[in-house]
Order: sequence, then C-alpha cells, then structure tokens
Amino acid sequence: MTLQEELIAAIRNIPDYPKPGIMFRDITTLLGNPRAFRRAVDELVHPYAGTGIAQVVGIEARGFILGGAMAHQLSSGFIPIRKKGKLPRETVSIAYSLEYGVDEMEVHKDALKPGDKVILVDDLIATGGTAVAAANLIRQLGADIAAACFVIDLPELGGRAKLEALGVEVRTLVSYE
Ligand code: AMP
Repeated sequence: MTLQEELIAAIRNIPDYPKPGIMFRDITTLLGNPRAFRRAVDELVHPYAGTGIAQVVGIEARGFILGGAMAHQLSSGFIPIRKKGKLPRETVSIAYSLEYGVDEMEVHKDALKPGDKVILVDDLIATGGTAVAAANLIRQLGADIAAACFVIDLPELGGRAKLEALGVEVRTLVSYE
C-alpha cells in the first residue's frame, strides 16, 4: 500500500458531523493505528530533519498529538497554541473568524524567540482561517516558519493557497476533493 492509500484507509469519514453537509475527517482512527501514525509523523517531518528546527508549534487540540510526536522525532521543543484563557502566563493573542462568529487563540509571549525556526502543525487545513491566524501569531513573536504541516488538505476550501500567499511552505499528506 502506498502511504496515501494507507492513510486514507486509516482516516474515518463521518458524514453530516458536526452538522449536515460536513464530511468530518476523523483522525482518531489514524492515531490509534500504530503503523499509520508512525508513517504519517515520519513523512511530515522527513524534509526538516537536521535543518535546525527549534520548535514544533501545535494548534489545539489535534495539533498537539501530531506535534508532540514530530518534536520528538526532530529533537525539537513543542509549543502549544491554545484557545483563549488556558495559558497561565503572559500571552499574545489573535482573533480569527469561524463560520459563525469569532474566536481567539494565544501563545505564551516567551515561548518563541526572534529567529527561531519553527514548524506549525494541525491535523487538517480547510479554509485556512485557523492556520493563517496561528502563522500570524508566530510571526508576531519574530519566529521564522519553515513550514506548516497537515495530514489532510481540503484544497477546494483554499487554505493551502492562503498560507502559500503569505510565503509559508505547506506540506500535506492526503487531500480530498
Ligand atoms: P479551517 O480554519 O477552516 O482551515 O479549519 C481547520 C480546523 O478545523 C482544523 O483544526 C480542523 O481540525 C478542523 N476542521 C475543519 N474542517 C474539518 C473536517 N471536514 N473534518 C475534520 N476537521 C475539520
């Protein structure tokens, strides 16, 4: 089986979740599959091994699971971007729009230093609203985004193109039209 075939077989598709018309791509089955989980993490980090990545920055919550494994593989640190109000020390925050309304995410102000080379990670990129906000937060701290990594791309929703327009290299493993 190719990597794409193996990952697609390991991802569970839930129609009409969390609401009618949405096909939810559930990676919990991929995470619970030892071989698929390892292959996905190995493949995401492969081009960046030995390139001086200081931190993997993960988006709450599924980005934490992938990001922790990627950081271990790269011998880098891990930095969480969290929903507002969860981090105990001084933060920088950014508002971003959801389908209905706005939300806010934040990161500790002292988590990244200017010039740190980082990788941003989440499970999936759709419209890119979440990842673009996270990339802007990382850049506010002066860090340098080597890449943004996602297991799943939904290219029709345009997120990848938005990140690339900001000069961010995007790496994804499988895509669904
Ligand atoms: P977006 O900001 O539109 O790129 O949405 C990306 C965020 O929403 C990620 O954190 C995903 O986990 C989640 N998400 C969006 N669409 C889906 C989907 N079809 N299946 C699973 N998660 C999704």
